[in-house]
Amino acid sequence: MPQPGDVQAWDRYAYASNNPMKYIDPTGHMICDSDGECHVRYTLEGVLDTYGVELLEESAKWSSSERIAVLDAVVAVAIRMGVTTKTSSVGAFRYEYGTNSENPLQFVKVSSYKYRGLVFDAGCLASNSHLIQVAKLSQATTNRPDSLAMNLNINNFVHELGHAFVQHWWGNKPDTKSPYSKIKGKLLSEAGWPTIIPGAENLWRQGEGTSGNEIFADMFLGWTFNVWGGEDLHRNDFMISNMAGWLTH
Ligand SMILES: [Zn+2]
Repeated sequence: MPQPGDVQAWDRYAYASNNPMKYIDPTGHMICDSDGECHVRYTLEGVLDTYGVELLEESAKWSSSERIAVLDAVVAVAIRMGVTTKTSSVGAFRYEYGTNSENPLQFVKVSSYKYRGLVFDAGCLASNSHLIQVAKLSQATTNRPDSLAMNLNINNFVHELGHAFVQHWWGNKPDTKSPYSKIKGKLLSEAGWPTIIPGAENLWRQGEGTSGNEIFADMFLGWTFNVWGGEDLHRNDFMISNMAGWLTH
C-alpha cells in the first residue's frame, strides 16, 4: 500500500488513480486495481525462483503448458522430499539440489542437445545437477489429449530431476556409493508399469534401456508420485528403504 512520504509508492498510487484499468506497477512486483488497492503479483518465474529453479530459452521457446509442467514437476518432487525429510518442501528441494537464486537449477529450452557425440532434437537431458536441457517433447505432443501430454511432460521432468539429484551428490560418474550402483537383480528385470493408457507407454517409464541410471530415474518418478505397477513392488520397497537416508546424507 502507498505510504505517505514514500515517493515511489505515491507515484504508483497516482498512476492507479489516473487509470481506470487494472495496471501492473513499473517494478512488476505489484498489481493494482483502479481504486489503488495493490497486491503482490506472482509470476511462474517468481515461484520457481523460491525453489532456486530458473527457466531459460536458448534456441527454442517454452510453450505455456511446458512452463507449467516444469513448475508441477518441481513442486511434486519438493513435496515428496519435504514429506520424507519432515522439513519444508522448498527447503528440502533447495538442499537436495544445492540451489538458490544465485546458483539456480536451470531448465533450458533448446532445439537440440548433444549426448555422447550424438545430436538429439527431442527429449530432455540432465547434463548436470544445475542444467536440464529440454528439446521438443514430441512424444507428448502428437495426437494426445492435452491432459495426457501435460502428464507426460511433468513425468519427463521428474525423471530428469531424478538424474539431477544423483548428479548433485554423486557426480556425473557415480561412484560405488551412488544409487545407480545399487540397482541390480530384480530391480533391473522387472517388467515396469503396465500400459494403462493406450498411447502413453512411457508415462511411467521415461527412460529408454535398462541401465541403472535410467531405472533409478524412473524409480525416482514412481517414488515422487507413489505410483507403481503391480510387478514393481521391489522398486517401491527399494526407494522407501533408501531415499530417506539418501536425502539426509
Ligand atoms: Zn533418463
